[in-house]
Amino acid sequence: MKNDNHGFDTLAVHAGQAPDPTTGAVMTPIYQVSTYAQDGVGGHKGYEYSRTDNPTRTALQACLAALEGAKYGLSFASGLAATDVVLRALVAPGDLVICGDDVYGGTYRLFDKVLRPWGMRFEYADFSTVAPESAIPAGTRLVWLETPTNPLLKVSDIAAVAVRCKAVGALLVVDNTFATPYFQRPLALGADIVVHSTTKYINGHSDVVGGFAALSDDGLYDKMKYLQNAAGAVPGPQDVWLTLRGVKTLGVRMDRHQQNAERILGWLRAHPDVERVYHPMDNPVARKQMSGFGGMISFDLRGDLDRARRFVAATTLFTLAESLGGVESLIETPALMTHASIEPEKRRAAGIQDGLIRLSVGIETVEDLVADLAHAFESTR
Ligand SMILES: *Cc1c(COP(=O)(O)O)cnc(C)c1O
Repeated sequence: MKNDNHGFDTLAVHAGQAPDPTTGAVMTPIYQVSTYAQDGVGGHKGYEYSRTDNPTRTALQACLAALEGAKYGLSFASGLAATDVVLRALVAPGDLVICGDDVYGGTYRLFDKVLRPWGMRFEYADFSTVAPESAIPAGTRLVWLETPTNPLLKVSDIAAVAVRCKAVGALLVVDNTFATPYFQRPLALGADIVVHSTTKYINGHSDVVGGFAALSDDGLYDKMKYLQNAAGAVPGPQDVWLTLRGVKTLGVRMDRHQQNAERILGWLRAHPDVERVYHPMDNPVARKQMSGFGGMISFDLRGDLDRARRFVAATTLFTLAESLGGVESLIETPALMTHASIEPEKRRAAGIQDGLIRLSVGIETVEDLVADLAHAFESTR
């Protein structure tokens, strides 16, 4: 399928997914296979071994690349596997990486506990407040940007950071997990690479862990593709197929996530037990670079850590769990859960209060979600 003239939802359903050439199967089959018959030595049909390439994975890679407006896509066994390959393929020991100070806890752990001991240098900056010129020194090899961030939903100006990166010859990588390509297209704003945890909104059904990287530069792609095969953190065909199924409804789901989140946001803002609400909506940069905001809301609950602990246990429709972006609503306390791997002082310095609650608003009937939260406020007072 030619991608140029099609809208997002058409690409989500069709890109990379022509009917199966051998049978006409309308849906891409799960090629549950490790190896491929050859006519003679080297006489294969483009597939030799499934670590290197697998037809179901090829379909997902092409679909997600089309959604990000990229030439190439690479799927991985997890979002962190994608992150690891970006860093190890493109950054050498001694190189300087500038990373947002409010990134996903596991990203920070990978950088600080695994890659830093190997000699990569990491510095952290709040790109939502610090000018790119002062955050990114000359000689920087790569900038890792997450926007909106997790869990404070801080927003950074991708285009402005991209301009500075170009000026100093640094690569710009954007983790687009929270916004998804439906609401934000980092490559069009000047980023070199987009990374996703497809575990979240892209798959959208909380039944697969996966990762993805999209990019258009031939040389960078060759290095990453080489490491995808050489290190082998690839997803299996079953997981890839589920993700391919999930992404078909990405646009429809994101619209509903957003609608429900807007309603809950208004309600939380008026609630006497809420000290502060975090959401990208009122941020002018977000309004400029995003076409919507999805279902993530964080807020500071009035009261102590114990109340936060009781609050997240008191909801029933909002399931107490890590992760986000599925059709079902989830609730968590970052300080005790997703961001527990960050040292407490660093966590508080980054603005993550002990009473912070993060919601991943699902696609359920919104009145039921509001009633569930109302009950949690009342029963923990
Ligand atoms: C979950 C997440 C990751 C890590 O992805 P996994 O699939 O869990 O490895 C990275 N970035 C963000 C923003 C995430 O939410």
